Amino acid sequence: MAKGNLYIVTAPSGAGKTTLVKALLAADPHIQLSVSFTTRAPREGEVNGRDYHFVERAEFERMINNCEFLEYAEVYGNYYGTSQTWINSVIESGRDILLEIDWQGAQQVRRLFPDAIGIFVLPPSLDVLEQRLRGRGKDSDEVIARRMKVAREEISHVDEADYVIVNEHVDDAVRDIIAVVRAGRLGLAQQSERHTALISALKG
Ligand code: 5GP
Repeated sequence: MAKGNLYIVTAPSGAGKTTLVKALLAADPHIQLSVSFTTRAPREGEVNGRDYHFVERAEFERMINNCEFLEYAEVYGNYYGTSQTWINSVIESGRDILLEIDWQGAQQVRRLFPDAIGIFVLPPSLDVLEQRLRGRGKDSDEVIARRMKVAREEISHVDEADYVIVNEHVDDAVRDIIAVVRAGRLGLAQQSERHTALISALKG
């Protein structure tokens, strides 16, 4: 059986990554989202086990020492990490996995899974990014400036991705991410494993 693919979606906050990922998961039943562990507090509406596994810092550090993470990083002063065991079991079973992680995590995963497919989501301009970060309009200019700085730091890693999606019109961007995932399944190595009998019969 062909192994599943690992897709890594990276984006600065404000690029609309979560919307694209939700639409992809709704359209494609063969891909599963990895639920990360984090030490940050849940936001309103977030559910433990669905959006994140929310854990205390001491528990996260115990998991680091136990080598339970495929990768982890500290973002905005909180830890975020991907469970190693879960990923291995899903990949071996032939299903695809989507990781929504930052550039530091993406680098670590790429070292362990060189075939992982990196997808970077960009905003159509800095102005639009800033408007989206201002969103609810409640944050000070200083907070916005800090978020813009972190976003630009993330964007500086765009060259490490395999595919780039500019999220100007959300419907187009959703079609793009679905297309990338489909294309990822049609590589020669995977198709040869999946269709061994067919290919040898056709070759004669
Ligand atoms: P948020 O707190 O807004 O949900 O996420 C903050 C940042 O942490 C985002 O860039 C998100 O992609 C990243 N992130 C979420 N989960 C993980 C993870 O498991 N590993 C890494 N390295 N980054 C993560």
